[in-house]
Amino acid sequence: MSDIDIRQLSKSYGAYHALRSIDLRIPNGTLLALLGPSGCGKSTTLQLLAGFDTPTGGEIRADGEVLSSPQRVIPPERRGISLVFQNYAVWPHKTVAENVAFGLQLRKLPRAELDARLARALDTVRLGALGDRYPFELSGGQQQRVALARALAVEPRILLLDEPLSNLDAHLREEMRFEIRRVHDELGITTVYVTHDQGEALVTADQVAVMKGGIVQQLGTPEQIFEQPANAFVASFIGSNNEIAGTIGGPGSFLLGAQPIAGVERASGTTGQQAVLCIRPSRVELCDARATGNVLDGVVKRSAYLGEYRDVLIEIGEAGTLRAFVAPDRRPQPGERVRVRLPPEHCQIFPAPRD
Ligand code: ADP
Repeated sequence: MSDIDIRQLSKSYGAYHALRSIDLRIPNGTLLALLGPSGCGKSTTLQLLAGFDTPTGGEIRADGEVLSSPQRVIPPERRGISLVFQNYAVWPHKTVAENVAFGLQLRKLPRAELDARLARALDTVRLGALGDRYPFELSGGQQQRVALARALAVEPRILLLDEPLSNLDAHLREEMRFEIRRVHDELGITTVYVTHDQGEALVTADQVAVMKGGIVQQLGTPEQIFEQPANAFVASFIGSNNEIAGTIGGPGSFLLGAQPIAGVERASGTTGQQAVLCIRPSRVELCDARATGNVLDGVVKRSAYLGEYRDVLIEIGEAGTLRAFVAPDRRPQPGERVRVRLPPEHCQIFPAPRD
């Protein structure tokens, strides 16, 4: 168990800045997800945390001790970390128990303690009954549990998970998210979880760091990053989102052409400044002709039934299109004229950065 403190961490490859300046505090017992699109710097951060590479600037500390700085890198085996990768890396010729016990044997633990830890690790991932099986006799999800048990058996102070579920099919992936969270709740090991999958991050993490271009765009709880995204990138990367381009009309007001739309200003802008209005499709309402305030006229372009809701694409003139997720029993047809209401409390206004 450990507090991790990452300060002004940067990593360049020649002239290319993979990490620009990362600041993250990961309190003891927290599961932090590093979430972002491919190439944003997630794996680079994890490699530095593991001690496989040297930072260009800044430092990483665990419980106050410097693990990494440009001058000094404590080697991986002396950090008390365990790593789990997406390709489970279990040995095919060893049984489940032999795989999990491997790290313990290297530590030359007394037999009784080795057996106790092995049993504990297998039970934690619910493989207690499968210790004698070989990997080829296991499903992909079970093989990943073996990798997780092996990582846990050595009782690390920090657990690093690098896209651990990417090789599993969609159904198993969903189930394993909850498993990882359960194991975390049980053991409370400080964990850094790298993923490009927002669903995985939202389910597993206490804190999510959303990254882009080697920079942390936002650090917050899953609810904070979903409900109060720091910028239009975070709003669009987490969940479905509509983005409408316009200008700032005044405090709490967005102008779509000449039409004012009331919303929540997420950063202060000046009247006339370019801006983006973000609203989740699930918050867009189909309304009747009497509705007033934040109402737009549109024409249905596409209407897709998805069982739990209907995904409706609506053309709203020059501003482009809006997606609305509506109750499945509403049946707007392509070509139909509709009115949509954008509830002000769900309209997030982001002034465009100035050059
Ligand atoms: P992610 O894990 O978020 O997909 P990475 O941390 O792997 O992203 O990579 C961040 C950026 O750094 C990418 O543009 C990648 O091409 C670059 N990069 C990573 N490793 C190296 C390397 N050894 N040499 C040069 N560029 C690298």
